[in-house]
Amino acid sequence: GLPPYDSQNIFARILRGEIPCRKVFENEFALAFHDINPQAPVHVLVIPKGPYCSFADFAATAPEADIAGFFRTVGTVAKDLGLEAPGYRMLANMGEHSGQEVPHFHVHLFGGRPLGRMIP
Ligand code: 5GP
Repeated sequence: GLPPYDSQNIFARILRGEIPCRKVFENEFALAFHDINPQAPVHVLVIPKGPYCSFADFAATAPEADIAGFFRTVGTVAKDLGLEAPGYRMLANMGEHSGQEVPHFHVHLFGGRPLGRMIP
């Protein structure tokens, strides 16, 4: 089963404003901010506002309107960052084998240079 949500994880603390972030965008569904250790010229994280510890948790338990609102926001953030025409990569790590480090569901957006093929 899924672990319980840890309300002291770093992204929960960012959502509560307890620690700062370089905010890109915020609405009722999501907060987008620059990754602290960028792996591309643009490396932005988009997180839902609710307490979901992983993609599995989010996909299985979030209200459908929140899922739609979140993923639509990921798309608009990428577009507003100028990533859509040149293209970008989105990635979500899920669980132990993926190396997921922060137990609050997040989507990475990478762009600003040709990224090369990365499967997986
Ligand atoms: P994961 O491996 O869980 O998919 O990715 C976690 C990401 O969060 C990493 O890319 C890491 O650099 C980023 N990160 C970890 N702590 C912080 C933080 O305090 N602030 C920001 N902006 N990013 C963080």
